[in-house]
Amino acid sequence: MMQTRNGAEPAVTVRGVTKAYGDIHALAGIDIDIEPATVFALLGPNGAGKTTLVRILTTLIDMDEGEARVAGHDVRRDKTRLRNIMGFAGQSAAVDPILTGRENLEMVARLYHLPSRTARERARDLLEQFDLEESADRQLGAYSGGMRRRLDIAASLVAEPEILFLDEPSTGLDPRGRLDLWRVIRQLVRGGTTVLLTTQYLEEADQLADRIAVIDRGRLIADGTAGELKSRLGG
Ligand code: ATP
Repeated sequence: MMQTRNGAEPAVTVRGVTKAYGDIHALAGIDIDIEPATVFALLGPNGAGKTTLVRILTTLIDMDEGEARVAGHDVRRDKTRLRNIMGFAGQSAAVDPILTGRENLEMVARLYHLPSRTARERARDLLEQFDLEESADRQLGAYSGGMRRRLDIAASLVAEPEILFLDEPSTGLDPRGRLDLWRVIRQLVRGGTTVLLTTQYLEEADQLADRIAVIDRGRLIADGTAGELKSRLGG
């Protein structure tokens, strides 16, 4: 069993993962370890392969070669199990525009078989956490991009996942929304959640991440703490 520096089993391990789309090598052999209850940022430009890796780890697509485990489960073999312990907020909102914000969160809660009272409480708490109480009972179709984004991330937290994957979570958020999101992420990690997020912003990785991996054209080109990376790249 692979171990991290502090001796715990990694929350995520990725070994030699590749994925090609025709001639495009979206991932050309990626290795990653993420310690439990930390934030790991995958930093890179458009087309670097970030979304592809997140989609593999969240069991949405299959890798070509390599191995990946999330919370000790093989991403190819234990899909159903994994879907119950991880949360995912991607670049296109997985929510229903006809329903209100509150109804969306309660619907997700019911999909996870939470009793209806717990579902209502969970929805209420998340609406409060993401500062969406005022628009809770409006249809999502009337939300701004930033509000939708926050609701989508709230939806990924309904089932209190052990591991949370956030693909470019702050895209479309204003500075205030971004700060709120960072606050929520820090709070989750203090509570024991492991977070893998992708970002194009060094500042976001610097602010939030315990470790950062820089990805470009399907390869990791640097990896370490923000401080290590800055000193290596000469600021
Ligand atoms: P962005 O920041 O723009 O989301 P990314 O780092 O998430 O970029 P990916 O979406 O993983 O990058 O894409 C990596 C490469 O794989 C790109 O060249 C992209 O065009 C290609 N790609 C991704 N998905 C597909 C697909 N379904 N079919 C063909 N090519 C794809």
